[in-house]
Formats: sequence, C-alpha cells, structure tokens
Amino acid sequence: MYKAFRPMRTFLKTGSIFLLSIFWLPAGIYAQQTNPAAEYLKMFNLPVGMGQVWEGTITFTRNDSKHKDVDNSRPGHTDKVVDTHTVQAGVTIRFCGCGHFYVSDVQRNWAEQWESGHLKAYERTYCEKDDGTGRKKREPVSPGNEDIDKERGSGALYLKEEEKYDLGPKGAQVSMTPVPVKGGFLLNAMAEVFVDYSSTAESLNTAVCSGKRKSTKSVTTTVPFSKEPQSSMSGGEDSKTFLFEAHPLATKFALVKHVNLADGQETIQGSETLVDVQGEKPGDWNRNMVATWNLRMKNYCNDVFDALYADLAVAGAYNDPNLRNGTGDTKAYRKLVFQQARQTYQSNNPDPDSNTSLHMSANEDCEIVGVEKAKESLRERCLPDVIFDAVYAHERKHVRQCKMDPDMYPPTNIEKVGVYETDAYIAGIRKYISWLELNCPDDQRLDVAKDRLVALKANRK
Ligand SMILES: [Zn+2]
Repeated sequence: MYKAFRPMRTFLKTGSIFLLSIFWLPAGIYAQQTNPAAEYLKMFNLPVGMGQVWEGTITFTRNDSKHKDVDNSRPGHTDKVVDTHTVQAGVTIRFCGCGHFYVSDVQRNWAEQWESGHLKAYERTYCEKDDGTGRKKREPVSPGNEDIDKERGSGALYLKEEEKYDLGPKGAQVSMTPVPVKGGFLLNAMAEVFVDYSSTAESLNTAVCSGKRKSTKSVTTTVPFSKEPQSSMSGGEDSKTFLFEAHPLATKFALVKHVNLADGQETIQGSETLVDVQGEKPGDWNRNMVATWNLRMKNYCNDVFDALYADLAVAGAYNDPNLRNGTGDTKAYRKLVFQQARQTYQSNNPDPDSNTSLHMSANEDCEIVGVEKAKESLRERCLPDVIFDAVYAHERKHVRQCKMDPDMYPPTNIEKVGVYETDAYIAGIRKYISWLELNCPDDQRLDVAKDRLVALKANRK
C-alpha cells in the first residue's frame, strides 16, 4: 500500500521542482529581498537555500609534469634521451545568482614548456672504400654517424579578443540545481581556456660514408581564428623547413559535484582532487588537478549597509567646512573629500570583499547618463535594486540643481560643490534607510546610520 504511493510521490516532487524552478530561478535576482518560505521548501522536500541568491568563486588548479634525462651511452656510442614537459594552469570563476549563476569575472592562466631530444653519435663508423684494385675495404671514419632529434615548445594563454571564443564571462558557466530525492544541490562549473602554442623541431642526420648531411626543421605557430592556417615547405632535399600554422587549442576545466546544505548553513565550501596520477618511471606523466569552491548566501542587509556607510562617509566629508578652504581647484577639493571619506568608511570595518559602488552621472544638459550600464553592472554583481535607486536619486538631485542653477556646470565653485553634493548624497541615503527599515529593521547598524543622517542634516553647511 505504502509502496504503491512512492512513484506518485516522486512524480510530485519532480513536478513541483520543475514548477518552482520556473518561478524562482529567473525571479530570484529580482525578488532578492524576499526569502522563499523555509516551510514551503520542506513541504516539497526541496533543499534549504534554494531560491536564495548565492555568490562565490570556483578555482581550478592544474599541474602536470614529466621528466626524463637518460644516458644510455656505451664506449664508442653516445645515446642520450631528454624528455621534459610542465604545465601550470588555472582558472578562477567569480559568480553570483540564483540557480543559474551570472559569471562576473574569469581569471585564467596557462604556462607550458617542453623540451625533448635524442642524440645518437658514433665515435667511428666503418665505411667501405675501393682500395684502387677494385676490391672493397672497410675503413673506420671518425667521428662517425650522428642523428640528432630535438624539439622545444611552449604554450601560453591566448589573449587576442575574437568573436569565435570568449575569454570573458561567457566562456565560463556555473549553476547549482536542486537534486530530487537525494537532496542537496548539484554544483556544475565549466571554463574554457585557449592556448597559444609555438614549437620548433629539428632533425639532423649525418651519414659519414656518403658524406650526406640532412636537416629537417618544423616550426609551428598559432594564428588567430580569423585567419586560415597555412602550411609551407622550403629548401631542397637535404635541408627542408616546414612551417605549420594552427588555431589556438581549447582546454576545458569542468566540475560536477553534489553538495549538501543543512538548515541555517550560509556557506558551501570544499575542494576535490579531480585528477591525481603519479608516474611510475622517468618520462611518465604526473598529473594533478584540484577544484576548490567557496559560496556564500548573499546577505542584502550587508550590501546595503556597505553602500549606505560609504555614502554617509562621503556626505560627511562634503559637508565639512574645513575641507572647503582649499585653492579653489574643485578637482583637488574632491580628492581631499574622498581621502577623508575613505578614512571614515574604513573606521567602520567594512567587509573587504564587498563592492557596491555604482556609477551614473548628470551632465551639463541636466540629464542622467550611464543608466543602462549601471543596471547591467548591478545585475552582474547581483546587488539589490535599492543601490540603483539610491544612486539614481542622487543624480536626480543634481538634475534639479542643474535646472535651478545655470552656473552649476561646469562646477567650479568649491562652496557650491560641497553643498550640492551633500544634498545629493542625503537623497541617496534616505533611499537606503527606508529600504533597511523595511528589510533589516532589527540590525543595530540602522540606528547608528539614522543618527548620522540627523547629525548631517543638522550641521548642513
Ligand atoms: Zn554627486
């Protein structure tokens, strides 16, 4: 009886995950301040943390090497083999989002070198020679035959910007999807790296009896995707040179990992060795690849407090009459203001990883510029909309000042700059405070901020 229900329950679970995904995954970033009810997740046996916005980094590190340096020489016969190769590479993906992550930054590196060679040389080689009477006679010739093969090459990160591939965020993907029945999430990450290879190979053969020396040289280089690779050959029979061109080679770093998440857990951290090969004899590859992940649930209260405290610090500095006794140079004045503001901001012990600054400005036609770029930048960093609203309110204030005061642009009067900026910052600070009153009412940083706003207005110069 109970068993008969199980397929149905599984179906229900899968069905509801599908439905919830439709609503939550795309809506997550826009509905940041609303947490999905924990009860709701439990009812459908979904992992806690689903529907939350996360941010974090995933790093891949790859180290491969092989080394061989063997001397098999015997008296009268030199025989040496060298074969070394090292690869040091890595990728760090920075991302944020809800389920399907927005990749905001990718750092790639690649350093590869190899060298191989085989030297065979004989102290003497016996050649048949005519002794003048028609008879053949074997005579030693020294030094004797010699064969040299050597190759040297390197690989580096391909950096040219091209349409065919993306070295930026689009060349990497990260997602975290709920796992039905088993629980937890499946963390998926992939990043592509393009490598620019160049190498030179040479082969020299000396046959002393015939007196022939043969040399073959091959040079390989990388050309952009926009160019068709060419190959060419030059030289005669005894001395050939081949030139080969190739496109950059793609290598993928990928991680698929099941991660668990307990109630109340706000970080997901771990690492895994993806490849671990130890060579048994000289010349065998030693390979190692490790992935490390570090995710934390995004805390919007922290983001907004960070932006608010930064604005309070700048507003305080603009409102400080002591900074306005400068030379009349507004650029120098602003520099002074930001120096003081940075000190005030740092004294509040901000989160060193937070980056909530957003840029828009008002121009001399009293228009706000940089709106679309600011929206995009907000999305990339999964910041709450109130940060955009506050910066927009700041610029709206400048627009009003610009319309009222035709002398505002270009801003050359220090006194005016100080007053206008203080007022514009106050407009933004008000937005933050009302958002925090609604979303983070119990946070003690809120009362401190409110007091600072009151003081700012009371001392407005
Ligand atoms: Zn301003």
